[in-house]
Amino acid sequence: MRILSRARVTPSAWQRRPGPAHSKASAVSRRRRRIAAIENIGVVCVLLKLPKPLTKYFWMNTNDARIEVPGMIEYSNLNPLPAHVLYVPYYMPKSHPKWSWDSAWFIDEAKRYVKMVQPSWDERTLLATHASRYEFAQTVCSPGFFDALPPMRTSVKGFAIADTSYYYPEDRSISESIRVGKRLVEELVGPESRARYP
Ligand SMILES: Cc1cc2nc3c(=O)[nH]c(=O)nc-3n(C[C@H](O)[C@H](O)[C@H](O)COP(=O)(O)OP(=O)(O)OC[C@H]3O[C@@H](n4cnc5c(N)ncnc54)[C@H](O)[C@@H]3O)c2cc1C
Repeated sequence: MRILSRARVTPSAWQRRPGPAHSKASAVSRRRRRIAAIENIGVVCVLLKLPKPLTKYFWMNTNDARIEVPGMIEYSNLNPLPAHVLYVPYYMPKSHPKWSWDSAWFIDEAKRYVKMVQPSWDERTLLATHASRYEFAQTVCSPGFFDALPPMRTSVKGFAIADTSYYYPEDRSISESIRVGKRLVEELVGPESRARYP
């Protein structure tokens, strides 16, 4: 990619270089294009509030063709809460037919899955249910992803961009969000921020 762009910068291309206003506008539109090119898959996250734990586990991966989710996560087994919270994540591209399902359908299906995993579970004990939808849940990191990412610092003074794409090559996690946050502060404030936020 870099070789191609260098090859295009011929002397005549330099002569046709736009003035500062145009350069700024084209830099902004280039950045827009780079941001728009970052692909994401979405997630519908079904939350079930239970009066008691379903299992003793925090994270349960599933590998069963009948269960169309990668797992079930009993969050309150990691971080105890007054009630027990289990979430069932439906990761999928937004082009997937299931993406247009109503929340109620996801909740019904998730309840069926829970019952498959724990047949003694009584649905009537459920305290609450909720399904949330997040369109930018997981970045798709295709070849050349890192080079294509726009810099976090923008041309607007004091304005920077950051999201889970910048965790690359790591996976999404709270720890990575803290690491990226620190990197961002360092970019904006300078290396002296390390002393303040080690
Ligand atoms: C389904 C799912 C499961 C995950 N599971 C785990 C896990 O088990 N363990 C783990 O470590 N990580 C997990 N992650 C990743 C983790 O959630 C993220 O890495 C982390 O939350 C990112 O932190 P953040 O502060 O950068 O962004 P966020 O947590 O997304 O916070 C951004 C905040 O900004 C707010 N906001 C957005 N726009 C505006 C605006 N214009 N004005 C004001 N506020 C705004 C949002 O409402 C939000 O509260 C998971 C992510 C997903 C999607």
